[in-house]
Amino acid sequence: MILEGTILTGRSFEAIEGRVVVEDGDIVAIEEAAVDSDDIVAPAFVNAHTHIGDSIAKEAGEGLSLEELVAPPDGLKHQLLRDASRDELVAAMERTLSFMEQSGTGAFIEFREGGVEGVRAIRDALTGADLESVILGRETTDAMELADGFGASGANDSEFGAERRATRQAGKLFGIHAGEVDSSDINPALDLDPDFLVHMVHAESLHLERVADSEIPVVVCPRSNIVTDVGRPPVEELADRTTVALGTDNVMLNSPSMFREMEFTAKLYDLSAREVLRMATVNGAEIAGLGGGLIKTGQPARLLVLDGDSDNLSGARNPVRAVVRRADTADVRHVVHSGAE
Ligand SMILES: [Zn+2]
Repeated sequence: MILEGTILTGRSFEAIEGRVVVEDGDIVAIEEAAVDSDDIVAPAFVNAHTHIGDSIAKEAGEGLSLEELVAPPDGLKHQLLRDASRDELVAAMERTLSFMEQSGTGAFIEFREGGVEGVRAIRDALTGADLESVILGRETTDAMELADGFGASGANDSEFGAERRATRQAGKLFGIHAGEVDSSDINPALDLDPDFLVHMVHAESLHLERVADSEIPVVVCPRSNIVTDVGRPPVEELADRTTVALGTDNVMLNSPSMFREMEFTAKLYDLSAREVLRMATVNGAEIAGLGGGLIKTGQPARLLVLDGDSDNLSGARNPVRAVVRRADTADVRHVVHSGAE
């Protein structure tokens, strides 16, 4: 497979005109050449934090607090999940996976509710989807055993020591929400030495120091935090200290479009478009342990091809800024998956 156009290469997304050669799912060559294509070839996005199970509850709960919306066990989300049939849940997740792919996402990290049954349901929804998934089970270590790791709700809900040990023993990924509503659960979450933290809206200087010392990566979800009115994560400060990736969080709260998350982040924060694109691609891939997320020889080819001559993107002077701040689902030609050949 050969992709031609403006190629955003490496960690700095240096734009070169030419072609990417893909063989057996890997990038085998990047050739600089004059080509007759307006396409923009970028790494496909890695959505580093999703809850797609609540696809059945999009835009529900107007006016409710975060607690009332998503807190286990009786937040609105959990009530709606309990009330939905398994078929309804799986069908709604399939629609979301389809949209995620249409909007340029090649891989995602999911915090899956519902224990073992929840993991099984998303595996069913993933049958036939091309997306690479990292599914983190919740609630029980059995769910972790079946999944790719454990996704903890937050250190104020439970101690999670046993789950942390079991996940480490299984050699799997352990992620945990921290500092979403206030700072009280950040230190206990850091004490667990997780593979990554999610949110960190209320990170204070001590927490930032601990993050820098431990180099524990952080997934931020700025749109979600605005919707739930918990504040703004200190993304610049976090990015100065550790690996930061972007996630769209609950589908009930936000469309799982990384274009929307990138534009919001790029315009709300003092960050370069390059930095935001790294947060949407290679940084998430690193946290997920997937490889890829950048266009480089030898990397898995999880790629996004955009129409650089769409009515939306035509005439853009800076392809990285165009992808981060302007591009949208309608500009996507297709996503190339490393396993897709
Ligand atoms: Zn979450």
